[in-house]
Amino acid sequence: MRQQTTDEPPVVLMDPTRPPRPVPGCDVCAALDRQRAAAEARSDIKRATTCEVEIRRHPHPGRSEE
Ligand SMILES: [Zn+2]
Repeated sequence: MRQQTTDEPPVVLMDPTRPPRPVPGCDVCAALDRQRAAAEARSDIKRATTCEVEIRRHPHPGRSEE
């Protein structure tokens, strides 16, 4: 397979910050993490990446930043 030049950045699977950790006790994060795992299992990287972004961005009012 040849590397294609596109405007989109390549998907980096070896990103050390991934997968993001779902916040314990947060149902939304847990659901997103399951979706991410399922997407990854079927090689749906785009979907998995979307879930990762949502996990990272999910706000948790009342919790202190780690
Ligand atoms: Zn959450």
